[in-house]
Amino acid sequence: MAKPISIREFDAHEAGPLLADKRFGRLKPVSCTRCGKETGFTRRLFEITGVPKSKQRDDEIQNLIRFHFNQQYSIEFVFFKGHGRKFFVDSALCSGCGSTAVAYDIEFDDDLFAAAAKLTGKSQAETKKGVEEIYEKLRQKSL
Ligand SMILES: [Zn+2]
Repeated sequence: MAKPISIREFDAHEAGPLLADKRFGRLKPVSCTRCGKETGFTRRLFEITGVPKSKQRDDEIQNLIRFHFNQQYSIEFVFFKGHGRKFFVDSALCSGCGSTAVAYDIEFDDDLFAAAAKLTGKSQAETKKGVEEIYEKLRQKSL
């Protein structure tokens, strides 16, 4: 028998340092897809245990967890994040309309560009420009 999956919500004391972590905090809520509000989101973080790392991207597992969040917490939209050896669910509540249909986006900061520049062997400025161009193309595609 596999270990059962368990879900535990982080309190503010536990969530604070995690949200402040650059790697974890990079993907963050940017706008409500219902009302368009861009600030004032309440974050809720949950640690999921009992899911092996190899299964964390498994559709079936993620759908099961999504279903649970829908039923148990009335949270419609969740983001899955692996961080270190742990597995988390990240969700945001819009303070404007109460929806959890909040879009997340990656915040590009200099650390990320520096890391990308190292990988590509280009300068940080070139990398930044390249990433922004790709990003803009993707943005237009998804609109
Ligand atoms: Zn909203």
